[in-house]
Amino acid sequence: NLKLSNKISNISPSVTLEITAKAKQMKANGIDVIGFGAGEPDFNTPKNIRDAGIEAIEKGKTGYTAASGTNELKKAICDKFKRDNNLDYNVENIIVSSGAKHSLFNALSAILNPGDEVIIPVPYWVSYPELVKLADGNPVEVKTPEENDFKYSLDNLNNALTDSTKAIILNSPSNPTGTAYTKEELEKIAKWAIDNEIFVISDEIYEKLIYDGNEHISIASINDNIKEQTIVINGMSKAYAMTGWRIGYTAAHKDIIKLMSNLQSHSTSNPTSISQYASVEGLNGEETAIKEMIKHFIERRDYMVDRINSIDNLSCKKPKGAFYVMANISNIKGKIIHGKTIESSIDLANLLLDEAHVAVIPGIAFGDDNYIRLSYATSLENIKEGLNRIEEYIK
Ligand code: PLP
Repeated sequence: NLKLSNKISNISPSVTLEITAKAKQMKANGIDVIGFGAGEPDFNTPKNIRDAGIEAIEKGKTGYTAASGTNELKKAICDKFKRDNNLDYNVENIIVSSGAKHSLFNALSAILNPGDEVIIPVPYWVSYPELVKLADGNPVEVKTPEENDFKYSLDNLNNALTDSTKAIILNSPSNPTGTAYTKEELEKIAKWAIDNEIFVISDEIYEKLIYDGNEHISIASINDNIKEQTIVINGMSKAYAMTGWRIGYTAAHKDIIKLMSNLQSHSTSNPTSISQYASVEGLNGEETAIKEMIKHFIERRDYMVDRINSIDNLSCKKPKGAFYVMANISNIKGKIIHGKTIESSIDLANLLLDEAHVAVIPGIAFGDDNYIRLSYATSLENIKEGLNRIEEYIK
């Protein structure tokens, strides 16, 4: 009868977990399920990075490192910020953590006090609200509607603003919507954040996965004032197909980095040494593998977008980045398909899985029930077959 933590009891389990677990079980039972749920590239980590990891093991670079990461990796990260984002940081502005999710957790913990509000975009990446709650903050959901290209508008931001607003989360390119902000749009948000003295947490994990000549701009690079207030989050997972290696990093004002380092030194300590050495190679080495991966993502995205828009009652925007498509299902909700009423995105996702053997993520997991999310981090062959099944099923 011992009581457990109220705070942690208040953290939701992932809505996606149930569907993903069910899809796995069906596969284990020999059912041929097409999965559109993947949140990670379906490519192997590039060879030069794998080799650097093996070399680190062979050379015995397997002990503790500085809790906030090796100097060598921090320098490679500083070089990356200069090269890719025109941002000048020193090693004291950098901390390496065990994945970008861990970076976000530490960053939010370093800036929030109980009751502080953090603005998050809806549709949001599933972990944002829970991460804010874990750090004793209150998530404030602000709609980024499809009509506005899934982006914040200043009107919506102003409506959400209170005396307790402490930070805003910006995710460009975005999971789940694939939207990406232009420089002009970022300038407006930067001015708004400066005028209202609000931290910007800029999650740039999909920076390299941006298409059609759209350019990734870090909001921190807009001017020195916004740089002071911005916490840039990035990592190796998506661009380098290194999800399992668990390396994320943060660039921010040194006072914030110091608090994050103290927290990390007493909780997880250093991220895996082997992954850190491999990440140096990832950041300093050739980007040939990324370019190859991007070619595949563009081909799959184009196919998926055309097919979805050709299916009656489904539609989607063409994502500018990442590897997800948000398909609008508002014309299907309330309708009866094969004798079953579709009341929600979960109803549709369950039916697609049970009857068409296709796994998609219901939009409600991202705070918007009018969508389902399909990942194109799977082969073109799977995408074709999966969309054939969806089309056939909802016809
Ligand atoms: N931020 C966004 C928007 C993501 O989609 C993800 C992964 O799904 C992460 C952060 C976390 O990445 P990592 O694997 O580095 O923890």
